Amino acid sequence: MSASRPDSNDRPGLLLACPECDLVSEIVPHQQEGRWHLCPRCHHALLRQARSDQLTPALAVTALILLLLSLLFPYIAFERGGIERAMTVADAANELAMHHHPLLSVVVVATIVVIPALYLLAVCIIHLSLASQARLPGSLWLARWLPRLQPWMMADVFAIAALVSLVKIIAMAHIQLLSAFWTFTGYAVLLLVTVTRMNTIALWQRLLGPLDQPARARAGLMAVEQGLVGCSWCGQLQQRGHQHCLRCRSRLRQRHPFTLQRVWALLVTAMLCSLPAHLYPIMVTTSLGQSDPATIIGGVLLFIDHGDWPIALIIFAASVLIPFGKIIAIAWLCIASRRRRSLDMAGQMRLYRITEWVGRWSMIDVFVVAIIVGLFQLGNILTITPGYGGLAFSAVVIFTMLAAHQFDPRLIWDQQRRVAAGRLDAPLAEGYR
Ligand SMILES: [Zn+2]
Ligand SMILES: [Zn+2]
Repeated sequence: MSASRPDSNDRPGLLLACPECDLVSEIVPHQQEGRWHLCPRCHHALLRQARSDQLTPALAVTALILLLLSLLFPYIAFERGGIERAMTVADAANELAMHHHPLLSVVVVATIVVIPALYLLAVCIIHLSLASQARLPGSLWLARWLPRLQPWMMADVFAIAALVSLVKIIAMAHIQLLSAFWTFTGYAVLLLVTVTRMNTIALWQRLLGPLDQPARARAGLMAVEQGLVGCSWCGQLQQRGHQHCLRCRSRLRQRHPFTLQRVWALLVTAMLCSLPAHLYPIMVTTSLGQSDPATIIGGVLLFIDHGDWPIALIIFAASVLIPFGKIIAIAWLCIASRRRRSLDMAGQMRLYRITEWVGRWSMIDVFVVAIIVGLFQLGNILTITPGYGGLAFSAVVIFTMLAAHQFDPRLIWDQQRRVAAGRLDAPLAEGYR
């Protein structure tokens, strides 16, 4: 159903509610073309308007071709004691599945190949739809899914993990980087550029035309104060109370009384998973019948022993500091949204954004294991197999990412509004649907 226009008015600017702080701000048309409009209060990037965009689909098609080439050709080869072996990207996932870790294999394939490929295909189909007169079937559905896929694409993390693996492997064997290594790196870079060029609000405007503006909406006030809610995906401001956006049919992200409980539940689950993640080995090296299991911390200590401080620091940061720091940061944000005193909101928003951005980089160690397991399958001479620590660790990363996505930073702004108004006794449900 398209949005009705009963209360559209002749306002020259475009009113948008910030999805991170809920402030309604006005974007003046002549400022739109090619420039990012930032929320004046929390500096969240709201909209980058472009009349046409031929570069983004071109990047997406090139990235898809590079991904296909990366899957067809070998990635890395090594030679050790006269034995040569080449590994493809698919081998990394295959070997995980072969060693009783099908779930870990699914996580690797989904995050580096399947989800990014679906995303790039969707970008191509949507732009084809925009270029043709008739809208292609399913293009609106794809546009709804596009931003949801984005956080789960980790090709760039895999590319960095490959570099970390090289440092690890170089002491054990003679390494050769093959064609798929370069095509995969190119694919990861182009995917990143494609993602940074996509702006869902601008995309929905190109798909469905300009946004309708409720006549009662005013810039400079929070949407919740005006009885309105802004769709986080297409930007449409509308009356509170609807489950789904009147314009794009996405589920409206309204403040929900159980948001914090859900975030806490996800955090506790992540903490529980971090126990087996650190207690069980992440990989087991078997050489001439002797098995040597290594935990995450054991791996870091081994790098320190070998004098590889930079790699030890990367693995320590990605596998220990980031996951635990993220759990503490999200827990703090939950507490901040109930604090009864005024807070430095710039600091809170910085913490929220760092937490959101940094989470997926924890997957580096899991990808390093996938690459090393994919390479070292030399029978009795040297075989490296994945341990259950890796599976538990991916669960930690996934649950902390879900907690960060579930957390609604507008809850902290709501609480600060109550603090500023001296209305701390106002019911918590105020502003919730
Ligand atoms: Zn904002
Ligand atoms: Zn919408």
